[in-house]
Amino acid sequence: MIKYKRIVLKVSGEALAGPGGFGIKPPVIKTISEQIKAVHDLGVQIAIVCGGGNIWRGETGAEMGMERAQADYMGMLATVMNGLALQDNLESLGVPTRVQTSIEMRQIAEPYIRRKAVRHLEKGRVVIFAGGTGNPYFSTDTTAALRAAEIGADVILMAKNGVDGVYSADPNKDTTAVKYTELSHLDIINKNLHVMDSTASTLSMDNDIPLVVFNLNEADNIRRVVEGENIGTTIQG
Ligand code: UDP
Repeated sequence: MIKYKRIVLKVSGEALAGPGGFGIKPPVIKTISEQIKAVHDLGVQIAIVCGGGNIWRGETGAEMGMERAQADYMGMLATVMNGLALQDNLESLGVPTRVQTSIEMRQIAEPYIRRKAVRHLEKGRVVIFAGGTGNPYFSTDTTAALRAAEIGADVILMAKNGVDGVYSADPNKDTTAVKYTELSHLDIINKNLHVMDSTASTLSMDNDIPLVVFNLNEADNIRRVVEGENIGTTIQG
């Protein structure tokens, strides 16, 4: 049984980097792509939002003295590299894809056009949203919430690297940390739980978009979430 028919999968840059957290590792992307293909084969409509933190983060540039907006545009370009890597991998597995960028780069990808994105999904193509929102001072988490609202997605899947949900504290540092199976968007904001940034949280809350936080590093987990298995933390309401 498929619980979510149209999903936005948020893949952080870190998830494409493997151990070390930097750069793009094709074997790592291959395992993610295989998981995506399995879900695609079930007939689920999949949109992906890529992060860019494995290459560049605007905040880091700003901390080193760069102008924040300039550094953020570099971050947005980083997400495009990740998007193209993911496209290459998915297509090599026979999954039809389209990359749409929020900042036009016509030679390498389509520009973001909402109605066209929806059409691609209906035709069974995986749509990869790259370039973030196209605006500095935002994040790709916010992009996921925005695109999910725009395309009428049933859920945002927040694929995490090695963490299987939302905890009361960092489970790697605090042995008393407990995992939540269900939370509301307001809980995330009030308890300051760092699932996504506050802009992304409020956007998801205001538009009633459920979120599932789960561990991407276990084979088959995307499928298990899509089929409604309670393996992570569900945030809604
Ligand atoms: N970014 C931005 N606007 C957006 C999305 C992303 O300016 O709408 C920039 C920002 O500098 C950010 C970088 O792109 O640090 C990479 O995105 P993000 O940190 O969300 O990637 P992730 O943490 O998911 O890898």
